[in-house]
Amino acid sequence: MTAIAAPTTEQFIALDDEWSTHNYHPLPVVLSHGEGAWVTDVEGRRYLDFLSGYSSLNFGHRHPELVAAAVGQLGRVTLTSRAFHHDQFGPFCRELAELTGTEMVLAMNSGAEAVESAIKVARKWAYRVKGVPENTAEIVVAGANFHGRTTTIVSFSTDETARADFGPFTPGFRVVPYGSLDALRAAVTDRTAAVLVEPVQGEAGVVVPPAGYLAGVRALCDERGALMIADEIQSGLGRTGDLLALDHEGVRADLYTLGKALGGGIVPVSAVVGSRAVLGVLRPGEHGSTFGGNPLACAVGRAVVRLLSTGEFQRRSRELGAHLHARLGELVGHGVAEVRGRGLWAGVEIAPGGPRGREASEALARLGVLCKETQETTLRVAPPLVITREELDRGVDAVGEVLTTRR
Ligand SMILES: *Cc1c(COP(=O)(O)O)cnc(C)c1O
Repeated sequence: MTAIAAPTTEQFIALDDEWSTHNYHPLPVVLSHGEGAWVTDVEGRRYLDFLSGYSSLNFGHRHPELVAAAVGQLGRVTLTSRAFHHDQFGPFCRELAELTGTEMVLAMNSGAEAVESAIKVARKWAYRVKGVPENTAEIVVAGANFHGRTTTIVSFSTDETARADFGPFTPGFRVVPYGSLDALRAAVTDRTAAVLVEPVQGEAGVVVPPAGYLAGVRALCDERGALMIADEIQSGLGRTGDLLALDHEGVRADLYTLGKALGGGIVPVSAVVGSRAVLGVLRPGEHGSTFGGNPLACAVGRAVVRLLSTGEFQRRSRELGAHLHARLGELVGHGVAEVRGRGLWAGVEIAPGGPRGREASEALARLGVLCKETQETTLRVAPPLVITREELDRGVDAVGEVLTTRR
């Protein structure tokens, strides 16, 4: 028998190109293994993961406690549907609510579903509690937002690529510039159900709003009787050095959307968490998901909550994040125009005349660091929170090499 050669990188990419829709443009690496902050491709090359699945892998690849929770649950029961109770669901909801200082949990799967769910809950709350006339409720959102890819969510995107050809769109949204309290004040009315905002805008390029903005959103929502919904799907669960990005401002939202890292990089797990006064409006049959809150998802989610409850990951993100920002800050004026962000999360704005974001990502991959551009000229750096200081330095050295040597 002749041995069949393992497919090469090019052959795997050709399969993707032929058999998958072309809704992504991945870097030309084909990964087959991951551990901690490292991934390995099919040719055996190792890379430092500087993206973490857009913050889905906050605990790194295959964190032993998360894998143990998943494997343990695989040996018991994985799906019951919500037609029946199961022994992971109540504990997951309680533990997640206690961790986040909230009172109720609506369990879903993907981030977009959590955002959709928060929109539905806010609308129902507006009609039943606030007294907004039927079918007139509005949700105010920020420009350059990213909340997911469903038809309703792209209805209020300001990114033409995300919207073009996908109309007609869902009405009931008002878009105001991110960071402007004056614009928000002008947009919030008696019919406003909620203001939906990312505490840090990830896709927009890791954009941190002006100091006082989030507290101002809270105050305005209180004044006008509107809900504040914080989309913490990317910013939450340790990424910025606190449990939630809003915690930096001492601000509490009425509803939070969580996702990405909540599934530990193993399974999709998302949730809306918040007060009983708001989430309590849902009645049986009004909303749901076959897979939402399934036993495997809950077991992994509980392990994620356990890891976060020690505060260790938040502390790592804070301390290593300070180091990351200090080191990246040294590149400003040397191929870097600006560095934004908080904790182990940075948007590195490439200076005019430097490589395009895509080129820079490809060059970094050749140096063994996987990162991805967002927008045309921003590198998004978001390593797993388990990364060591030495690994972090190695990645930052590569960023410096790619952005400075060609000038
Ligand atoms: C990723 C993301 C979403 C969407 O999550 P999916 O799981 O991809 O549907 C929503 N909001 C924010 C802020 C995100 O970063």
